[in-house]
Amino acid sequence: MSAGGILSGAFMHREPGLKDLLDPMEFRELCESFASHFKVGLRIIDSDKSSVIHIQGPGELCRKIKEVSGGIERCTRIVELIKQVEIEDGAQVVGCFTGCNYQVFPIRYDDRVLGRLVFGPYVPDESAEISDLPPGMPETEILENRTSITMMSDDDAYESSEMIAKVVEAAVFGGYKVMVTSSIHVESLSESYKRLQEKNRELEKMNLKLKELDLLKSNFLATISHELKTPLTSIIGYSEMLLEGLAGGINEEQGTYLSTIMTKSEELLKLIGNILEMAKIESSAVQLELTPSDPGAILENAVDTLRPQARKAGIHLVSKTQIGMPKILVDSDKLRQALVNILSNAVKFTGNDGRIIALADLIEDHSISLKTEAEQIFGAEPRPMIRYTVLDSGIGISRDQLDRIFLSFYQVDGSATRGYGGVGLGLSIARALVEAHGGRILVKSATGRGSQFTVLVPAKVEV
Ligand code: ADP
Repeated sequence: MSAGGILSGAFMHREPGLKDLLDPMEFRELCESFASHFKVGLRIIDSDKSSVIHIQGPGELCRKIKEVSGGIERCTRIVELIKQVEIEDGAQVVGCFTGCNYQVFPIRYDDRVLGRLVFGPYVPDESAEISDLPPGMPETEILENRTSITMMSDDDAYESSEMIAKVVEAAVFGGYKVMVTSSIHVESLSESYKRLQEKNRELEKMNLKLKELDLLKSNFLATISHELKTPLTSIIGYSEMLLEGLAGGINEEQGTYLSTIMTKSEELLKLIGNILEMAKIESSAVQLELTPSDPGAILENAVDTLRPQARKAGIHLVSKTQIGMPKILVDSDKLRQALVNILSNAVKFTGNDGRIIALADLIEDHSISLKTEAEQIFGAEPRPMIRYTVLDSGIGISRDQLDRIFLSFYQVDGSATRGYGGVGLGLSIARALVEAHGGRILVKSATGRGSQFTVLVPAKVEV
């Protein structure tokens, strides 16, 4: 297929003209050197008759004619003739009233005439006939000025302009190649861009759908949980009454069954509480009730909540808080809840005879082991913060799971046969609550070597 065919097909909306194919700067220089070599004027005219390059020939004849009355009209007629003359079948000679001639040569590419090369004016011979002069321009003046115009035969002029036309055609060919290549590039780029936009639109749609589904899921869970909560509270209440013998005496076996009903129901209630809490966090930003609070008391309170469970599991749970920490402006219930969630995981994933250490201290500068993390989170400017650390000697978490444990409903062991309770909400709730305070939770862990959760909270002391 020819380049023109390709271009006129998929890539171009219109046929390229000479102006599109020739580099005007470079090409002008080339034409100037031809014009000065042959001492003639040169002109390249596009297929739409507009001028691409125009180099005046030597002499003053043309300028002088334009100055006398009727001169411009006559010149314009010649120029029009040069632009209109039929050259499909080959070059034409256009004669001027001054006796000068112009060679008008077709510039072809791919069998199509893209434009014309005009070579002249030149004087074909001394006796070249003068006719139809403008009034005010005597023949003697024409003859006098004609001497400064190059004299050459029509045959020589034909050969010279043929040579120049060939050079122009070679340049046009080069221009076509560049244009085809860049058109293909542009075409394939815009094709990829279109595809990318389509994909983007699809992704946006899917994203919207996912958000809708997510909201639906949260609403569904919240409604179901709410509906479950009331009967469950009754089950716990009635079991308690039965256990206390309010409905008559019960034997030991019945007592054991009732205790199991109560513990399992309480677990279920906690789980429902978590789902409701998460739904609340997802549907609106966490609302904090900030009050000046003792950071050490918050930790002790959370540890106390977990003590019975730790004791039952045979775990040594110790806590230590730095003395003399200032009161900080936090929502103590929410911060306590975050610590309870972390501590209850520590208890859950640490076996009999394991150890859990819970610490609270104040970091006034970043010159401690946490320097890099703190700087990454809070910036290089040292700011006082409260650090809660929960260390356990439990099963640990592998490095590749560390990023995911904070996702809602994510559990490292998500199998149906997993040995630990929970639904994978504790850490995502803890993270939302800590981040609402402008803080962060960091985790370090290794399988079989225990875990260390660090909660950093900016120690704001006033509003
Ligand atoms: P879950 O209710 O399952 O405990 P969480 O969001 O609290 O949900 O924790 C997510 C997962 O992270 C847990 O299922 C567990 O696999 C892992 N994990 C959290 N804390 C610890 C820990 N102290 N030791 C080992 N694994 C932990």
